[in-house]
Amino acid sequence: MFKGILIEKDDAGYRATLTDISEEQLPPGNVTVRVSYSTLNYKDGLALTGNGPVVRTFPMVPGVDLVGTVEQSSDAEFQIGDQVLLNGWGVGEGHWGGLAEKARLEGKWLIQLPKAFTPAQAMAIGTAGYTAMLAVIALEKNGLRPDMGDVLVTGANGGVGSFAIAILARLGYRVVASTGRMAESAYLKQLGAADIIDRATLSEPGRPLAKERWAAAIDSVGSHTLANVCASIRYRGTVAACGLAQGMEFPGSVAPFILRGITLAGIDSVSRPRADRLQAWARLATDLDLSMLPLISREIGLSEVIAIAPQLMAGKIRGRVVVDVNR
Ligand code: NDP
Repeated sequence: MFKGILIEKDDAGYRATLTDISEEQLPPGNVTVRVSYSTLNYKDGLALTGNGPVVRTFPMVPGVDLVGTVEQSSDAEFQIGDQVLLNGWGVGEGHWGGLAEKARLEGKWLIQLPKAFTPAQAMAIGTAGYTAMLAVIALEKNGLRPDMGDVLVTGANGGVGSFAIAILARLGYRVVASTGRMAESAYLKQLGAADIIDRATLSEPGRPLAKERWAAAIDSVGSHTLANVCASIRYRGTVAACGLAQGMEFPGSVAPFILRGITLAGIDSVSRPRADRLQAWARLATDLDLSMLPLISREIGLSEVIAIAPQLMAGKIRGRVVVDVNR
């Protein structure tokens, strides 16, 4: 038996409990992993609280990220004892995920844990840091360079936002952070933000075209914020859209696209091919200052996860939460 969080939905309602699970209950897969760390992402918060339709089959072990040691494998790429890393692939949604002491997975979803990171560091970065890196790469592919002007990061205090600021600042960009928590300005400046704006200035319905302010943006908020960000991007600039913390709708106009030639780059981390994952993790090894990790993340035990999830949904958690699944 091992410990894990199980989400159930039946006549008794929707609930998440920390419980004992037997190895026979694990889903099919060709690699069994002894999990050391997982994380709490926005999506895990939705799954744990039932606030959003994230979980597709029940019962479900949540946790879209995990790192651990291979215990059994019939995949030639992974040997017993290998340290492996998983982000996404629908794990924690349609296949049992990382918030348990064991997981059974498909080898094609895994990558070897990059040597640059300890297991806990890889989870401090997790899907949030890997997604922020994918977004930065997308901006670069569209020609962004530090001398082109300010880059906006929305949802600044969140996991994706925190890493986007830290990576862009390290690469030499002047970063403007948009947040609803101005009280966290000192934190955002420590990450490397040069300027901080109140997210209320972007969250209401706006005009199709506004003053050109930013060379590019990374948006984890969506809705009116994304529409206003597009309206304020400079000629031929790029917005990397990766989130929906404000809402899933995009109430925007084509005006910035056809009059200013801006690009909206969609960022998906879940089904990303392995080559892109390896590239993003290799870039994280060189372009992220690891001394930022204790500032951005904090560690909790598996037994604290269910109580913390509502705080994440309420936007009260700063940065990242790493979960030591063995305590
Ligand atoms: P977090 O919960 O850590 O951060 C979200 C941040 O968004 C909050 O900290 C807050 O920042 C801001 N925010 C919250 N509610 C609102 C609101 N109503 N209006 C405006 N801003 C708001 O989440 P993550 O950083 O982990 O993820 C961010 C988003 O990106 C989520 O929607 C998530 O689902 C998505 N995501 C997508 C991925 C992909 O593959 N495309 C991968 C990872 C995440 P502040 O307090 O500074 O305002």
